[in-house]
Amino acid sequence: MLALVLERKNELNLRDFPIDEKLGPNDVRIRMRTVGICGSDVHYYTHGYIGKFVVKAPMILGHEGAGEIIEIGSEVKSLKIGDLVCMEPGVPNPHSPELMIGRYNLDPEISFWATPPFHGCLRPEVIHPEQFTFKLPEGVSLAEGAMVEPVAVGMMAATRAGIKPGDIALVFGAGPIGLVTAMSALAGGCSKVIITDIQQPKLEIAGTIPGVFPVNTVNEDLTSVIAKATRGRGVDIVFECSGNEKVAAAVVTHLRPGGTVVHIGIPLENVSWDLAAAIVKEARIESVFRYAHVYPKALDLMSSGKLNVKPLITHHFGFSESIAAFDFAKNMPPNGIKIHIDMDK
Ligand SMILES: [Zn+2]
Repeated sequence: MLALVLERKNELNLRDFPIDEKLGPNDVRIRMRTVGICGSDVHYYTHGYIGKFVVKAPMILGHEGAGEIIEIGSEVKSLKIGDLVCMEPGVPNPHSPELMIGRYNLDPEISFWATPPFHGCLRPEVIHPEQFTFKLPEGVSLAEGAMVEPVAVGMMAATRAGIKPGDIALVFGAGPIGLVTAMSALAGGCSKVIITDIQQPKLEIAGTIPGVFPVNTVNEDLTSVIAKATRGRGVDIVFECSGNEKVAAAVVTHLRPGGTVVHIGIPLENVSWDLAAAIVKEARIESVFRYAHVYPKALDLMSSGKLNVKPLITHHFGFSESIAAFDFAKNMPPNGIKIHIDMDK
């Protein structure tokens, strides 16, 4: 089938690609309709690896997908042909110890779309287990369905933070993950979220979200903004979504004593940070990697109207223009948050 194939670093082809997949009794076949481009897809394109995951053979990109069920296995009960769905891209080994303790996202053997050696969903059809395929509720569009993947990361972070009603959070980085984390923090009970970036157009989009207060750290003083917002105490929660080593090294600076830090962005280089500063604040340091058990809640929040991701979808391309979409993503303009590929075009 026609697929967007990363042949090797810096080389993409939209070409016929043979895939040997069979529909099992608990699987569904999905016609892909919308796929979002993730930073990780772009990173594999430009670098050929992320950490220990190295592209050694041609790999189909894409893991943020929504589509329509066109065939179901003999044992499938919860889904039917014609249902619009979104898919959790990571399928763990059902016998892994991590799954047994409810943390299947940490299964080292998880097969995750577009993470070598597993193919992604930038192709007309995929086969996926029923268990990791979720029907879109009334009022949730395919485009929103394709946003559930990044939203799940934000919700996982908000959950891990243990937000209490009225908490004030600080989010570093106003990219897609920073923004969905800010939205999730508000949905989880934060009274306000201060979000930082150095790209003004991104902050302008952030500023349209009620409860989000953007700060451009190039020309604004974050320390005084936070002092004003928190009666000089510091924020209850810091979400590090920038992946920037310098930012990650200073996560406790604006944290109140006894507050919580959640690391989401993965820095490319080692971070050396001030452990002593964290200890004297008794900072609780958490981290999240992807998500587990979040998709149904993300869909419920979206359909309730409490989490609106539509302003984050800033650019659209057709499947036939996928290579152009990736070249655009490579040099993303500052007003770009999420690119969606319409698989029907
Ligand atoms: Zn993603």
